[in-house]
Amino acid sequence: MPVRNRLGELHDEITAWRQDIHRHPELMFDTHRTSAFVAAKLKGFGCDEVATGIGRTGVVGVIRGRQTGSGKVIGLRADMDALPIQESTGAVHASQVPGAMHACGHDGHTAMLLGAAKYLAETRNFDGTAVVIFQPAEEGGGGGNEMCQDGMMERFGIQEIYGMHNWPGLPVGSFAIRPGPFFASADQFYITFRGRGGHAAKPHETIDPVIIASHAIVAMQSIVSRNADPVDQLVVSVTSIETSSNADNVIPQEVRLKGTARALRPEVRDLAERRVVEISEATAAVFGGTAEARYNRGYPVMVNSEAQTAFAAEVARGISGDCAEAPLVMGGEDFAYMLQERPGAYILVGNGETAPVHNPEYDFNDEAIPAGCSWWVEIAEARMPLA
Ligand SMILES: [Zn+2]
Ligand SMILES: [Zn+2]
Repeated sequence: MPVRNRLGELHDEITAWRQDIHRHPELMFDTHRTSAFVAAKLKGFGCDEVATGIGRTGVVGVIRGRQTGSGKVIGLRADMDALPIQESTGAVHASQVPGAMHACGHDGHTAMLLGAAKYLAETRNFDGTAVVIFQPAEEGGGGGNEMCQDGMMERFGIQEIYGMHNWPGLPVGSFAIRPGPFFASADQFYITFRGRGGHAAKPHETIDPVIIASHAIVAMQSIVSRNADPVDQLVVSVTSIETSSNADNVIPQEVRLKGTARALRPEVRDLAERRVVEISEATAAVFGGTAEARYNRGYPVMVNSEAQTAFAAEVARGISGDCAEAPLVMGGEDFAYMLQERPGAYILVGNGETAPVHNPEYDFNDEAIPAGCSWWVEIAEARMPLA
């Protein structure tokens, strides 16, 4: 795998950054230490501009090439936040924060993009401007959306945007990508069924919300199996059930459900929203109760642009000799918002045989650093070649 000598030399230093960030995980928008760490490094590399506080705790670094006549501006984005999971890797660099850990490898993403920024600031072998973006709150907080809402794309003149995620099970040094819809929309629903509570031995005097909720949960299974076209991808999962009573001899007043819906096309997403609400309300009515269904739209479908995906795959092939077709992913990804604003592409980089992400045994594989850094550097240099 051709990795530039200089990036090979930086491997140990980037690994040390990665493990430092790993020891100090921060959740959602509270990436204060990590953001300060990133901003200090970017200033140290000699970035032309370092902006903090974008989308609350996001950081942006601007690196101008030795030529800028092309007028091209490419955004390269990493995420910085950790997860509320207690780490059990036993690694020497394990989390020092109880109940928080980098279980999705965003420590690795941040370190790899910092490594690329150091290289690009040293060499500047491109005609245009590279904008390195470090976002908070990828894990459900919409930090990428907040950076966009803050006017980041306009402020830095970003024309195209690229992102990357490590992928356990994909060999180190290899890549996978696909054009079009790639990661699913990720919505949440919250339903409260109300009946009339009473003595469990006198069910005829009650309107039992447990029965209503049970029927509704079963009926919701027909959204995927009978409402959606079988060639479409859709997930509808009820993930939490809670009643207003905790006794074995009480029929409760209320049952509350939580769940999630994932789709890869807007029409299928609309269908899921409509049917979750219809089934809840109609089922409650059948049994004489009521339903209050709240459907919250989370991350949109993440769609890779055709041309930028082809280019990203070509760059990956130049590094590893191959680039696999990635599977569709029903997980959500906050980078979707940036791809709604600008054309671009999101790629998976092999993390080897590690535990799956979001698992307490997961640890980013530092052997993946050279391939990831090379891809970032090549994206900037090959998309903005010197005249
Ligand atoms: Zn994650
Ligand atoms: Zn992640």
